Amino acid sequence: DRPLADLDPAVYDAIRAELTRQQETLEMIASENFAPRAVMEAQGSVLTNKYAEGYPGRRYYGGCEHVDVVERLAIDRVRALFGAEHANVQPHSGAQANAAVMFALLEPDDTILGLDLAHGGHLTHGMRLNYSGRLYRAVGYHVRKDDFRIDMEEVERLALEHRPKLIVAGWSAYPLQLDFAEFRRIADLVGAYLMVDMAHFAGLVAAGEHPNPVPFADVVTTTTHKTLGGPRGGVILTNRADLAKRFNSAVFPGLQGGPLEHVIAGKAVAFGVAASEEFRDRQRRTVRGAQALAARLAREDVRDAGISVLTGGTQVHLVVADLRGSELDGRQAEDRLHSIGITVNRNAVPFDPRPPMVSSGLRIGTSALATRGFGDAEFAEVADVIARALIAEPTASAAADLRGRVAALAGRFPLYPGL
Ligand code: PLP
Repeated sequence: DRPLADLDPAVYDAIRAELTRQQETLEMIASENFAPRAVMEAQGSVLTNKYAEGYPGRRYYGGCEHVDVVERLAIDRVRALFGAEHANVQPHSGAQANAAVMFALLEPDDTILGLDLAHGGHLTHGMRLNYSGRLYRAVGYHVRKDDFRIDMEEVERLALEHRPKLIVAGWSAYPLQLDFAEFRRIADLVGAYLMVDMAHFAGLVAAGEHPNPVPFADVVTTTTHKTLGGPRGGVILTNRADLAKRFNSAVFPGLQGGPLEHVIAGKAVAFGVAASEEFRDRQRRTVRGAQALAARLAREDVRDAGISVLTGGTQVHLVVADLRGSELDGRQAEDRLHSIGITVNRNAVPFDPRPPMVSSGLRIGTSALATRGFGDAEFAEVADVIARALIAEPTASAAADLRGRVAALAGRFPLYPGL
């Protein structure tokens, strides 16, 4: 029963250092967020001790009466949040959720059609080295070269040519809403299943700030830790009773053993939070913040440095800065922002001439800062700091000034006080 600090100071110290890092820097990685303390409390609970293979009311272990309550709460809340008939809250991650859907719907060598990784798709949408690209015949669609919007004509053309069994709509680095009705039409044209992976924008959907894919798709997958702001994990949603059973058996016993009931408890708490007005306000601040950032990065001083904003703006929680016309590459830009206390990740942009490890893009998200409490004024301030840092290598005193502005913002919005 020794506390962590006493039993294992090496791990304890690293966790404390990470807490300080999160408190003192500005987190703008688009896939990250800050889980509420109540979610972390649920995750750190005795539920981690419990085996519960199976589903509520149908377990392969005794003593599941309390974890059944927790898992039913998570299922009911996420169904209500997204208006879905069926939910599986057991996938350990977003990648696991996608694997389970593909395992349920496809045979090896079946064809899938997804957004190319280099154009903003996710690894699990058919990347060569991922299971999705190795087990299945993956075909990628792209964004158009002139406006960087998803080329729906190409999606239709590739669907007709390759007759995929599954079409995947969803992204990891794309700043616009998708046309779910058009994806549905194309899927029906070729008799394909439509899976929407809303991992990135699920929080916006929950808040009514983004169209809901559930009515259009055969199945919707998501993570619970990005805009949704919960514990790390995955969820599968569907309105199709016939498929719901297949998804359940693909998760267990297909791909996973015991569910992580402590994480499922955290998911239940997060889904409860996501139904609140406070959460909706946070998502509105998130999108407005991203739009303020896009507007600042579109100004003349930034443009003159050869930097632009992909698609010219954003409808979601992130902005992709395009550095193809700049001397500054993605890695240098990431490092420069890191040196003044802002964490982002470099990202390949479509048609990127630089290699992926260097890349010509920066993906910048506003979810975590909105969770911290940022509103319009603070997002305008951080956008200006980012713009100034990117325009030119700051002198030592300019860098000190930018670091000071970052520290002031972080100081005004204490994170996990008292932790
Ligand atoms: N799907 C999309 C669109 C994502 O962006 C991600 C994560 O970045 C995932 C799935 C995978 O989620 P996880 O990292 O939980 O496996």
